[in-house]
Amino acid sequence: MSQLRFRVVETAFTKKPLDVEVPSERPSEYFAKYVFNKEKMYKYLPTQVYNMMCNVIDHGAPFDRSMADQVAKGMKKWAMELGVTHCTHWFQPLTDTTAEKHDAFVEHDGKGGMIEEFTGKMLVQQEPDASSFPNGGIRSTFEARGYSAWDPTSPVFIIDDTLMIPTVFIAYTGEALDYKTPLLKSLHAISKAATDVCRYFYPDVKKVVTNLGWEQEYFLIDEGLYGARPDLLLTGRTLMGHSAAKDQQMEDHYFGAIPGRVAAFMKELEICALQLGIPCKTRHNEVAPNQFELAPIYEECNLAVDHNMLIMDLMKKIARKHGFRCLLHEKPFAGINGSGKHNNWSLSTDTGCLLHAPGKTPEENLRFLTFIIETLMGVYKHNALLKASIMSATNAHRLGGHEAPPAIISSFLGKHLSDLIDHLENAAEDKIVIAGKHGLDLDIPSLPELMIDNTDRNRTSPFAFTGNRFEFRAVGSEANCASALISLNSAVAEALVNFKTRVDSLMAGGIEKDAAILRILREDIKTCKPVRFEGNGYSEEWRAEAGRRGLDIETSCPLIFDAYLKPETIHMFESLNVMHAKELEARNEIKWETYIKKIQIEARVFGDIAINHIIPVATRYQSTLIDNVHKVLDIFQGEAPALSENNMKQIKEISTRTQRITADVEKMINARKVANRIENLRQRAIVYHDTIAPMLESIRHEIDMLEMIVDDELWPLPKYRELLFIR
Ligand code: ADP
Ligand code: MG
Repeated sequence: MSQLRFRVVETAFTKKPLDVEVPSERPSEYFAKYVFNKEKMYKYLPTQVYNMMCNVIDHGAPFDRSMADQVAKGMKKWAMELGVTHCTHWFQPLTDTTAEKHDAFVEHDGKGGMIEEFTGKMLVQQEPDASSFPNGGIRSTFEARGYSAWDPTSPVFIIDDTLMIPTVFIAYTGEALDYKTPLLKSLHAISKAATDVCRYFYPDVKKVVTNLGWEQEYFLIDEGLYGARPDLLLTGRTLMGHSAAKDQQMEDHYFGAIPGRVAAFMKELEICALQLGIPCKTRHNEVAPNQFELAPIYEECNLAVDHNMLIMDLMKKIARKHGFRCLLHEKPFAGINGSGKHNNWSLSTDTGCLLHAPGKTPEENLRFLTFIIETLMGVYKHNALLKASIMSATNAHRLGGHEAPPAIISSFLGKHLSDLIDHLENAAEDKIVIAGKHGLDLDIPSLPELMIDNTDRNRTSPFAFTGNRFEFRAVGSEANCASALISLNSAVAEALVNFKTRVDSLMAGGIEKDAAILRILREDIKTCKPVRFEGNGYSEEWRAEAGRRGLDIETSCPLIFDAYLKPETIHMFESLNVMHAKELEARNEIKWETYIKKIQIEARVFGDIAINHIIPVATRYQSTLIDNVHKVLDIFQGEAPALSENNMKQIKEISTRTQRITADVEKMINARKVANRIENLRQRAIVYHDTIAPMLESIRHEIDMLEMIVDDELWPLPKYRELLFIR
């Protein structure tokens, strides 16, 4: 075992930060160097083709397939100048990672030689043999093939020698097998609904865009230590490990100085990301030791999601170059903070942000209140679905602890906005003056002053208003943001559609526009009130209160997924043409199956480590103690019992704990056998949640107690203090 300690010293203490090759140009010059953006299109495409592409990107016009060959030709020229030899469709199957299958540009030239070829067909559509991606039964019952189709609104980019083409991934029968397809549909739905509502206030608005700014948290662990932890290697988290004497209690890591090796990693990551067009902005230490965060400037939602998927890949790759492993799991270590991914979400038009309160004219104030209140309506009505959209076996460890939002979706608005909305609800109708140059006269201070003050942020709220956007904080660090955004965009789109229908109907009855809007808003303020919560989301009282208010307070992951199949969810997704019942059912099958597999793998790894690593070591240490007791007896005879008291206590404790571990592992294996016979995936997932997951916790407790008594020299796994404080 001294070997292990030696390895720690070798890889961690003696390793110098890597020299990072810094480009000679400035970041503004190398930004998007490897992206086929409009600037490259202008240079490499004929004018007519360039104009068509701009129409697709800026105005959502359909892509003209007759021009596909010309687009491909321009791309090929640009890519080959940068040494590219391969291309791949890059898609986001339902696994929280990305998938790619590379094809070389080469083709026979018909004369016995080869030529480089990249055609419009290769760009626009491919048929990856993707039968082993999760499909929830869709592809076994129907046509087995799937196809990937280019998403021209997200630009192609280059990684190493490969042209990466962002695509959707769909079954031949039309069902989406990925995240991007429903995300694009949800973005279309919210854009349409929001544009229609926007026209009450600004008749000329053409399009509403959804923005996303994510903040990615992650841990870095020394690669040598990571390799010595089979649990980290196979499950992404430590299944056992006693907490270190010191972890985050001194609050000395958050925003602390970034260590040299980590800084070198961040530097290289940011250069790569900027070259790929990801506008990295912020980096800092997070709350837990060895935990960090990266946030770019917000972007259009679809592009931002692609960029987040890409950054997670880059983080993992570049970390290894620097002798680290990047952990994206939501809860790699018990007892200290886990990682999340705040999703900053807003809507804007070409003229500005819709959630920002400029307050100069009555129209603007009314527009602001409309979008705030209708967002709340969506979040209120679909609070269970929004929770389901961020839930997973891994994120479940993080939610509800005293570090992350609780497993209840509510919204924090801040005192001023909250007071304003209460006032709007309670004031007599004739007291609310809409007209006039001074803004919406609500008898209380004007909006702009209120909105600037967003200092009273509530970190315990899962969906907080922060001045010009909502921050959805419950999203997990490992997740594809699209899952949360498909639900959020759709919920708000539905609320906006309903809002417009009711306002139009009042107007048809002769009520003037602003009065009609106000009346509906006042109705909705009452309806969505239960979702507004300004207090401490971590408190026990809140749980009880949320239950009384009718919010979803379910905590079991497999049961939370049920929200996807509630009639109101299916109705919402179908009416907006985002997803159909069959797709939702298939996706839930995948969710339950993934949940089962994750717990199953953890249980297996647990069994292996407990039986093959921990018990032998504990027993060996116990033998040393027994040996010592014998020797003491030999020498001191009569005095021995007193002298050996401590050793005897430990010998007994080791026996008790190892026996419990052996028995519990056996029980867990049997429980798995029983569970695995259950055909219905939902039922099986429930059993895994209710019976097997808690067993892991009880075995862990025994192992962590053994870690406290067994000789440190013998302990087979790097401990928390080593994992978390070595860099
Ligand atoms: P925090 O204090 O929450 O860490 P930051 O100022 O670092 O907030 O911003 C977090 C993210 O929010 C960044 O990605 C930023 O670009 C994004 N953001 C800022 N304004 C908006 C907006 N109107 N819509 C969407 N995202 C936004
Ligand atoms: Mg934030």
